[in-house]
Amino acid sequence: MNDELLKGFVEIVSPEGVAGDVVSPADVPALTLVANFCNQHGVPISATSGVPVTPGGAPERGGIILSVHRLADIEVAAAGLTVRAGAGATVARVRSAVAADKLAVVGLGADTGSAHVGTLVARGEVPRRSMAGVEAVLSTGEAVKAGGSALKDVVGYDLTAALLGSAGRLAIIATVTFRLEPAAARTATDKPPGNRTWQPGLAGAFDPKGLLRSGALR
Ligand SMILES: Cc1cc2nc3c(=O)[nH]c(=O)nc-3n(C[C@H](O)[C@H](O)[C@H](O)COP(=O)(O)OP(=O)(O)OC[C@H]3O[C@@H](n4cnc5c(N)ncnc54)[C@H](O)[C@@H]3O)c2cc1C
Repeated sequence: MNDELLKGFVEIVSPEGVAGDVVSPADVPALTLVANFCNQHGVPISATSGVPVTPGGAPERGGIILSVHRLADIEVAAAGLTVRAGAGATVARVRSAVAADKLAVVGLGADTGSAHVGTLVARGEVPRRSMAGVEAVLSTGEAVKAGGSALKDVVGYDLTAALLGSAGRLAIIATVTFRLEPAAARTATDKPPGNRTWQPGLAGAFDPKGLLRSGALR
């Protein structure tokens, strides 16, 4: 990363949010500013929800690794049977937060390959019915939101479904609201067949400049 970009990222996320080529915003407004800055300067983004322990990996074509691991808040709404979690929250923390109220996430299998909420959705490791809503940031820096804590049927374009299995190519997932059910009466789950794949045809609408890169660097 050159000095001009480094200065810009440090202004947005403060020095502790930049380590090598890894930029880690502390909240959603900062995430939108980072994406907007990347859009203005043509900087490719590879998303991760995990903590880059040894920062400084070589991102594709001189871009940045955008880590949302600091977006890790978990808010359980037991009465409304939903939980809202930051993309950087671990799946294990979400499980134990809802278990304290004798609840479980609808459709969340016992073994997920993904350690973090954002990755779970980016890899399509939960069914659509698990999710009540999602907040994400487009490569343009525009924040988008679908659904939320109020359970209702959605008409029209289903943004949440599009982001399931999108592998970081359509938007950066910031928070996810999951549906809950009583743990003692939970719906049985099975492993999903095959892998979900992102839909290249949608990328032009979500990421017109092609700034969102595959996260398959490691
Ligand atoms: C691009 C990239 C660079 C990395 N660089 C380093 C490094 O320099 N040093 C180091 O120690 N570790 C690095 N890691 C490891 C990483 O930070 C995690 O700790 C580790 O991969 C485990 O995280 P995870 O299982 O949650 O999945 P991840 O590896 O975070 O993600 C798996 C897939 O899901 C997508 N994805 C994940 N979160 C989101 C999201 N919020 N929105 C949209 N798509 C998402 C990714 O693009 C990727 O395709 C990197 C990972 C990635 C994907």
